Amino acid sequence: MAETTEKSKVEIAPIIGVGEFAEKLGVPVTKVIGELMKNGVMATINEQIDFDTASIIGSDLGFEVVAEPVAEVAAPVKEKLPEGEGTNRPPVVAVMGHVDHGKTSLLDAIRKTEVAAGESGGITQHIGAYQIKRGERWITFLDTPGHEAFSAIRAHGARMTDVAIIVVAADDGVKPQTKEAIKHAQEAGVQMVVAINKVDKEGADTNRVRQELSDMQLIPEEWGGKTVMVDVSAKSGQNLEKLLDMVLLVADLEDLRARPDGLADGMIIESHLETGRGPVATVLVQNGQLKVGDYIGAGGTYAKVRSLDDWHGKRIRRADPGMPAVVTGFKAVPAFGDVFKAVETEKEARDLAVGSQRQASIKSMVKVKKIDAAELTSAITAGNVSELNVVVKADVQGSLESLLDSLAGLKNEEVAIKVVQSGIGDISESDVTFAKAGNAMILGFNVSMGSVVKQLANREHLQIRLYKVIYELLDDLRDALSQMMKPEIIEHEMGKLKVLGVFKTTKTHVICGGEVTTGKVTANAQVRILRDKQVIGTGKVDNVQKEQNVVKEAVEGEQCGMNLTTDVKIQIDDRLEFYTTEEKARSL
Ligand code: GDP
Repeated sequence: MAETTEKSKVEIAPIIGVGEFAEKLGVPVTKVIGELMKNGVMATINEQIDFDTASIIGSDLGFEVVAEPVAEVAAPVKEKLPEGEGTNRPPVVAVMGHVDHGKTSLLDAIRKTEVAAGESGGITQHIGAYQIKRGERWITFLDTPGHEAFSAIRAHGARMTDVAIIVVAADDGVKPQTKEAIKHAQEAGVQMVVAINKVDKEGADTNRVRQELSDMQLIPEEWGGKTVMVDVSAKSGQNLEKLLDMVLLVADLEDLRARPDGLADGMIIESHLETGRGPVATVLVQNGQLKVGDYIGAGGTYAKVRSLDDWHGKRIRRADPGMPAVVTGFKAVPAFGDVFKAVETEKEARDLAVGSQRQASIKSMVKVKKIDAAELTSAITAGNVSELNVVVKADVQGSLESLLDSLAGLKNEEVAIKVVQSGIGDISESDVTFAKAGNAMILGFNVSMGSVVKQLANREHLQIRLYKVIYELLDDLRDALSQMMKPEIIEHEMGKLKVLGVFKTTKTHVICGGEVTTGKVTANAQVRILRDKQVIGTGKVDNVQKEQNVVKEAVEGEQCGMNLTTDVKIQIDDRLEFYTTEEKARSL
């Protein structure tokens, strides 16, 4: 019979100090510390433990531990409004594709169509997104050149994106990153329009591109399929308006509506720290109206919106759904991809930030976990992973986030990257100190370093690598990790022999002879010894002899003798299989 003792309930926060936890349970703190120790966690009275840990320890001590409710930012991402509610909103479009296929050029060219159409002049600022008007309708373009290209942004990007323009250069065709972009768009379930770019170029072959895309099950409409493909030139501007019309057409397949008023929500699509202005973030409003003076929570930080600028750098008082806007007034720099939410009071905004900080620190805390056998094995194997330590610096939060995500993906069961320190801004002396302490190399993306830092790094024999192109950074690291991986051993079969006589056997050597039944045998070959079809041991051929003479090899049908290094006591009728091995460098 199971015991039916009633457990007393204790309500705790997601993170709690050991001392406070003991107090809540009403047990001596030493008892809690002892219980933690039993579970492999060394913690003092002042240290904090997370909810999972507390609930395991609590339950061992006979309590039921339940969570106190916390404020959390609800993800408003692409939430569908109920039928008939809300108003139409502009589609949000991301441009993806292989490097150098013309993403940036296309984004720039599209931006210019607006100026050409006389909609508005003036300078456009690169703030991470912009809007253009086609006829009576707005389209929002995510404009993150340089780092939109890599997978993390694509994955993030897709979350806020309704339509992906896949750019393929007509003179280059489908490339790995084209495939990756298509895969991401498909996984995220966003509509696609293919822009076959650079049609002005010699060597442009739009049919070949269509064929290559068809091979990936993207059949062009004009061939009876469903995928919209437009031949364009970012250079000459050819067909750009048609491309925009097609974007609107496929966007209409989705019922894009937003709540037009009330408190805003949306996402952070760019952020950085600016001298004089403090943390600056570009937000994409997804619902409601964002106004100057609003309180918003975003990730682990919050703001009272001090100013709002549009993509022309013009002061605005209000941003509507689909609009990107530059916001100042944040207490700290929010992260790319963070969800923001406007609330009534400063206290609510702060609570949102604190709630999400807690969530984040819970994720990064050491935890007691009841692990099962399978997890244990993988945990042990994890101990065999060789790590490449790096310090990462990037120009803006968006790049950094995406870089970190991409770096986290560079791994297998043998090697991985460990980021010992990361941040925004130029490489500083403290980065060098960190790198030295962590035995790490320093990676800079779109940042620079002063001569003092350079000298310091030289003196400490630290590697600093600066990049402007993300793929080069990732490729270099992939190479570095590959070099850390153990080589693959490839075996080449050489021949087989049937043992007809054994002449001398010592602890470590055997002299025997026989007939080569297939292939050949040469000196220095590796050997596998089989008895009754079972492998009973291995060894190495020291030399091969024919009629007392050492020879290079003996081939099929010939009889020969040989000296072997092996500890197997070879017998007549054993079979020997000869092979050579080759080490092949592996790549990640
Ligand atoms: P991204 O890496 O995909 O952003 O590519 P870019 O926009 O930087 O373009 C790569 C190169 O292709 C640049 O030298 C552009 O000038 C060139 N390019 C882009 N679009 C076109 C086009 O339509 N025609 C021609 N001839 N060149 C183009």
